[in-house]
Amino acid sequence: MATECWTISRILSWTKQYFTEKGVASPRLDAEVLLSHVLKTDRIHLYVHFDQPLQSEELQKFRQAVRERALRQPVAYIIGRKEFMGLDFIVSPHVLIPRPDTEILVETAQKLLSPLREPRLADVGTGSGAIIVSLLHLLPDAQGVAVDISEEALAVAQQNARRHAVRERVEFLEGNMTEPLTGTFDAILSNPPYIPDEVIATLEPEVRREPVNALAGGKDGLNFYRHLIKNSAAYLNDNGFLAIEIGQGQARDIQQLVLSSPLIVQSIHKDYAGIERVIILAKKKDLL
Ligand code: GLN
Repeated sequence: MATECWTISRILSWTKQYFTEKGVASPRLDAEVLLSHVLKTDRIHLYVHFDQPLQSEELQKFRQAVRERALRQPVAYIIGRKEFMGLDFIVSPHVLIPRPDTEILVETAQKLLSPLREPRLADVGTGSGAIIVSLLHLLPDAQGVAVDISEEALAVAQQNARRHAVRERVEFLEGNMTEPLTGTFDAILSNPPYIPDEVIATLEPEVRREPVNALAGGKDGLNFYRHLIKNSAAYLNDNGFLAIEIGQGQARDIQQLVLSSPLIVQSIHKDYAGIERVIILAKKKDLL
């Protein structure tokens, strides 16, 4: 069929069908998001211009996006963007795509930190910078340090810090977990890799496109929690806390790990699906 016959309406129906055959979970939504990206507009525009035909250049770009998505490349990587805490984050395949679950971590930390003056935060394994950038955005007098082992991830996090006007309040350090930290903090925040190694191969194709070093937490998935629980206390102020995102069913394991550490469990927070998702750990106080 001739190119000029591809209207917005028709190409969305065709793409929805094609994505369905390819096992894409939300075929219509993804088609709309990709098309609005190519047309540099928002989704509502598609609905009010259903009969608009695509230009051949637009069609070519859209076809490329559809090919990638059919190979189960995540939408966020194709468009280079993901919304988190109401902010638009730049993402690349070098960083984990921010998840709604992680908003629980940010919101919990925000509540605990908002009474403090000029809180100092550290985000360990920052990836896209979603956690530290949104917290600094919400807490205008906070300062932060963001650590990642990946130079490419740090470059993305820095772009996001600039984009959301917090660049001058955050220092970026390349290194392993807490190792590059100096001084003490009111909060250490981390969404570390926590998936057991053998589970990685069973994940959805989209998740397997994400950096394995942002997902795999060792044999039992707990390696990075061991590091954090052992090492964080030295970098926390007396009333400071460690806030971690955890995987489904890991709360008990964390409670076990904490028993032989300088920390105690202060609170556990559930995500929107009712799963224990965030743990706040405080420094153990010496009994009088
Ligand atoms: N929540 C992510 C997932 O299950 C995992 C993120 C992580 O390992 N920190 O896809």
